[in-house]
This record gives sequence, structure tokens and C-alpha cells, in this order.
Amino acid sequence: MGKMVGIDLGTTNSCVAYMENGEAVVIPNAEGGRTTPSVVAFLKDGERVVGAAAKRQAVTNSQRTFFSVKRDMGTDNRVKVDGKSYTPQELSAIILQKLKADAEAYLGEPVTDAVITVPAYFSDSQRQATKDAGRIAGINVLRIINEPTAAALAYGMDKGAAQKIMVYDLGGGTFDVSVLDVQNDMIEVLATAGNNRLGGDDFDNCIASYLVDAFRRQENIDLTREAAAMNRIREAAEKAKIELSSATSTVISLPFLASDKNGAKHLEMTLTRAKFDELTAHLVEATTGPVKQALSDAGLTPAQLSRVLLVGGSTRIPAVQQAVKRLTGKDPSRDINPDECVAMGACLQGGVLAGQVTGLLLLDVTPLSLGIETMGDVFSRIIDRNTSIPVQRSQVFTTAANFQTSVDVHVLQGEREIASCNKTLGRFRLTGIRRAMRGVPQIEVTFSIDANGIVNVSARDLDTGKHQEITLTHSSNMSDAEIDRAVKDAQRYAAEDAKRKKTAELLNQAEQLYNDSRAVQKQLSRQDKDRIEGLRKDLKRAMDSKDDDAIRRQMAELSRALESAGRYVNNRAADDSDGAMDADYSDGN
Ligand code: AMP
Repeated sequence: MGKMVGIDLGTTNSCVAYMENGEAVVIPNAEGGRTTPSVVAFLKDGERVVGAAAKRQAVTNSQRTFFSVKRDMGTDNRVKVDGKSYTPQELSAIILQKLKADAEAYLGEPVTDAVITVPAYFSDSQRQATKDAGRIAGINVLRIINEPTAAALAYGMDKGAAQKIMVYDLGGGTFDVSVLDVQNDMIEVLATAGNNRLGGDDFDNCIASYLVDAFRRQENIDLTREAAAMNRIREAAEKAKIELSSATSTVISLPFLASDKNGAKHLEMTLTRAKFDELTAHLVEATTGPVKQALSDAGLTPAQLSRVLLVGGSTRIPAVQQAVKRLTGKDPSRDINPDECVAMGACLQGGVLAGQVTGLLLLDVTPLSLGIETMGDVFSRIIDRNTSIPVQRSQVFTTAANFQTSVDVHVLQGEREIASCNKTLGRFRLTGIRRAMRGVPQIEVTFSIDANGIVNVSARDLDTGKHQEITLTHSSNMSDAEIDRAVKDAQRYAAEDAKRKKTAELLNQAEQLYNDSRAVQKQLSRQDKDRIEGLRKDLKRAMDSKDDDAIRRQMAELSRALESAGRYVNNRAADDSDGAMDADYSDGN
């Protein structure tokens, strides 16, 4: 058997670690770097380059150079190069192949297995895509684990007292904050929040814009249209930013940046940390909301946190560290290199799986709620967002129409109360249900999510034992941007959705009463029959108007009339745990 490694497959940079004498050790790449830019380029002669070499040639070969592939994982986006189209999985696999080859050259042994990390909010299709990338690269992916969990492992959080910790991860292009519960050799992600379009690149861009403005004022030349000059500006901006993490001022010097009729123009300026902080204050501030959100989702106050861990190269920025301290009241821990701790933790988890490290179990979290559609476009949640995985939950549902012998199970992911506003993960049909009145059959729907976050949904008719299931692997394709949007939409539309859900439930009850009263009518005297028929028509009108008050009023009137006619109808409320599945495929009624 070959070697096992831990891989942090990052948006901007990737990192690899292996186990040496029970410790996780970072493997340098062929160029000697401890992290490798997650950049792939196809040169004109067809050669592929990855990492620093790909990043360096990006400006002169921008059409054939690919950054931030991770953002596209789980989507159908493809890029075309020389007539061949590449999926995000394939591009990621090219990065993984370079990481694998460099690790093999360093270790002198083949690398066969890996634990790969993903953001805690990655959906199941994004996790699956990451696994596929590993497989394409010839790696046996032992486990996909969450980045904050890996960071906590690297910090040895699993040893010692039970505690709640925060992982603040600001990388090159993404910001993630997670709250973890560590106890009894177990790490559980309680909540995650973030912004997948915020990172070190934005800090670079602030400096770059500042330099471009200064140059325009000084030389009356607009550099934004000069690709090569802009590349030099951006490189200088990142370099200055990095220097300002340890120095209080830095000199930016870019000779021969442009020219006009008077000759060559140079840019030379001193940038102080104070000015840098002023230019980027809004970016640091933008991390505040997600920090508060994660704490509130976890039901914690900052005082209940024992430690805050810093992950991602951008947490080396002093203003970021100060902001974390201000927000949490804690001095953040940064004993381990923030760009290496995720790979180290992944490697430790690999050690656990291989039996090299003992006494540790990991629990991760599902990023969005999962459930099915029930009658009236209602989203019936079965597994709540931020539930620890692996998990299995079941709920019993019933039919919506009399003599319905099949149900469509429409599996959804999202936070909206209205099914059609959420994301479809898949559909399947359970057939062979015994013919019965609506509400009688009991159909148990079970969702299970395995340790890699892969979802399986099954439905079983508890009477006949008929059973049907699907495993959702490639169908979901929900990007992290969509997840962000789904969560934000859900917050924005929460009140509206609650009202629509209430109306849908009320309509279900009204329809039940309307149908039941027809059956009862047959047993009544002519006079009662006419009265009930009139009230049924009034109820139908109220239902058509979708006016909640009118529906309630007419339901009450019809119920009263049925009661006084001696025919009380027990109006079964359609509650969440026993929702009716849509009936448009019914072969009965
Ligand atoms: P990561 O994705 O964790 O590798 O983080 C990459 C980001 O961290 C890039 O935007 C880097 O410019 C940034 N970075 C790395 N080192 C430093 C530093 N010393 N100070 C500020 N930013 C840094």
C-alpha cells in the first residue's frame, strides 16, 4: 500500500501533509513552496502547467489559465481548451495530480490515498464533485471532511476539556466562520456562515485601485486598460499587503510602468499600514456579520467560546486579528501556520482512518435543510440545516387523494417554506400503495446522509412494505453561491413564506372538510342537504379567493351546520408530520 496524505484543496492555494512518526508534516512542492497556487494553465503547445508557473503566465495567456475552480465545483460549468471541454472536477483533478506527483517525488513512494477537505457549507454535489476529482487524479479518497474540523484537529482541540471554539478562515477568495463543539474525542460543527466572495484578493484590489488612482493623478494615464501593467500592479499590491503584516510601511516601486510622448513613467510610493487599514476597513468589517450569524446559529455568546482559531493566509493581516479579538473578546490562536493547518488536520483524520491515530471521531454538519414537497407546494423539512452528519431521520406522510396508488417523492434542499422556491435534488416514484381513502396509507420517508455528506432518500409503504430509494450523487449541482442565496432568500422571505405555508395548510384542511361533507350529505334530510350544499359552495368560493379569514369563517359555519345536523366531521389538521403528498399522479378518485 502507498502513502496516505491530507489535502487542503483550496480556492486560491492548496497544501498537502503526511504522517511522520504520528505527526502531520507539510510536504513542500517541486518548487519548494509549502502551498501551491490552485491555478491550471494550458500552454500554446498543449502542455499543462499548474501552480506558481501557471499563475505567473496568467496575463499573457489569460484565456487558457483557470483560477478559483473550486467555486464551480458541483456546477455544470465547463471550460473549452483546444476543442476539449473540462468540468470543474477535471480541472481540480489536474491540480490534485500535481500535488500527488510532488508528494511522491518528495516521499519517494506512491501516494494512493487521501483525505480531502471542503468548506463546511459545501452541498452534497460539491462534496461528490471533490471526491470525483480525487478519483480522476488516481487518488482513493478515504474521506471528505470539513475545513474547520480539520483546523481544529491540527490544533489538537480533540484532546483536553470539552469546549466551544470558533474557526475564522479568511483565505485568498473566501471567508468562512464556523463554531465547533469539542467534547469526548468528538468534534461537531454547530454552525457555519461566511461569504464566498471575500478574501485576500479583495485586499490586493484595494491597494491596486489606490495605486491606479495615484498614477492617474500623477501622470494622467489610465492603467486599467493595460493588462500587463495591471498584472504588475496586482503583484506589487499583494507583495505590499504581505509586507504590511509585519512592517508598518512599505515602498512600492514599479519602474517603466507606462509611457507617453514624454517617455517612460514609473510608480514609486510609500504605503503605510495605517493607509492600508483605511483602504480595507470595509473588508474587515464585512466579516462581522457572518461571525455574529454563526454565533447566533450556534446559540452562543462570544463569552462562551474557549478559543478562536485563525485559518487562511489573510488572517495574518493585523487589522483582521484585531477585529477577531474585538468581536470575540479573545486573543486568537495562531500557533500553527494558518495556510497549513487544514491540510495537517486532514492528514490527522487520515491517520485516524488508517488506525495510526486513535481516540477521535468526527462529526460534520449538513449545510442546508433537506425535505420533500407535500401538498400545496409546502416544503416539509426532514433534516434541519446544521444537523451533524452522519444522520438518519424519518417521517411518516400520507396520500392526498382517495385510492391513490403511487406517490412522487420530490426531494428538495433549501431554507424556504415553499417547495418550489427550494432546490430540487431529485425525484422518484413509490408505486404499489394499497388502494385506500386519502390519509390512510402511511408512507415513511427516510433521509440519510453518510460521513461524506452523500444523501440517500427512501420511501416505504408501511402497509405493503413496498420500497423505493435514490442516492443523490450528481443531481444536485448546487453551487455555494446558490447556497448563500438560498439562505439569504430564506431570511428575506421568511415572513412571506410562513404566511403562504399557513394558507396552504388551511386550504388542505378546507378541502378535506369540503370532500368529507359531500359524503355526509347523502345521509341527511332534503332540507339539511340543501343548507349544507349552500355552505359547501360558500366554502369553495372562499378557498378560491385564498382569503384565510374567509376560509376559516366558512369552515366554521359548515362544521357547525354538520354538527347541528348530527353529523360531526372530525376535521383532521394537516400537520407537518403527516403531510399529504401531491395527487396529480393518482390513478384513483
Ligand atoms: P490561503 O487561501 O489560505 O492560502 O490564503 C491566501 C491569501 O493569503 C492570499 O490572498 C495571500 O495574499 C494572503 N496572505 C498570505 N500571507 C499573507 C500575509 N503575511 N499577510 C497578509 N496576507 C497574506
